[in-house]
Amino acid sequence: MKHDGHTHTEYCPHGTVADVEELVQRAIALGFKRYSITEHAPLPPDGLADIGGEPEIWTSSTMPLNDVRHYFIHMERLKKKYAADIELLVGFEVDYLAGHRHWTTDFLNEYGPQMDDGILSVHFLDGVDGLRCIDYQPQDYAEGIIARYGSFQSAQLAYYRMIQDSLMADLGPYKPTRLGHISLCQKFQLAFPDEDTSLSADSLALIDTLLTQIKAKRYTLDVNAAGLFKPDCRDIYPPEPLIRQARQAGIPLIYGSDAHDLADVGRGYDIVSALLP
Ligand code: ZN
Ligand code: FE
Repeated sequence: MKHDGHTHTEYCPHGTVADVEELVQRAIALGFKRYSITEHAPLPPDGLADIGGEPEIWTSSTMPLNDVRHYFIHMERLKKKYAADIELLVGFEVDYLAGHRHWTTDFLNEYGPQMDDGILSVHFLDGVDGLRCIDYQPQDYAEGIIARYGSFQSAQLAYYRMIQDSLMADLGPYKPTRLGHISLCQKFQLAFPDEDTSLSADSLALIDTLLTQIKAKRYTLDVNAAGLFKPDCRDIYPPEPLIRQARQAGIPLIYGSDAHDLADVGRGYDIVSALLP
């Protein structure tokens, strides 16, 4: 079953999608039979007080709360219109924020019943002056995250710890059970030539435990092609050795284009699917 499990829409303020319907049509043309529309769920409005760095990074991350109703109406219409050609699953990529678990649980309790699919991702970590973004740009990552943890590898370990925290957190019955791009901390790996960006022994040990826990909780993993096309990454999230390890652990792996643009639909599918069972 050709499935894209991670895609975005014009409801994402930092993407360049003009009309999600064009992406759906492209996916159909590329032979996808299932397509998950997983727009960034709104961030908790009072989280703005917790962030360091530029506030625009936070406010342009996701749709505002008052778009959610319209988002569902719009996507449900597409679901019906294209039902004969493709199975559209509508849901969210939900941010895991350790300090906002209650808000996120309330959000999921309210909208979870309308979700067909979902991804739980970590895009923010405690950093300099507050919460800082993982995937905005290299300089911001250096100033906000690496400066806080001391080295690329220490930041990496902190990221995997937060992924583990996200897996274990109680977000109620509608918590997404697929973890998004678990190696997003590598997005700028090529921008730090003076740093060791490989997985440290501590991270490798943590990942061992993490994969066992993912399997035990029957979660799945997003195998996200976006990193292949980022100039400072050039790798899949997670990289091939981790994909192999996850396969051996028996964790279901789901391809995601993470499309934020029409041209992104189906990107890297052949490369990723060759690594999947
Ligand atoms: Zn996005
Ligand atoms: Fe994401």
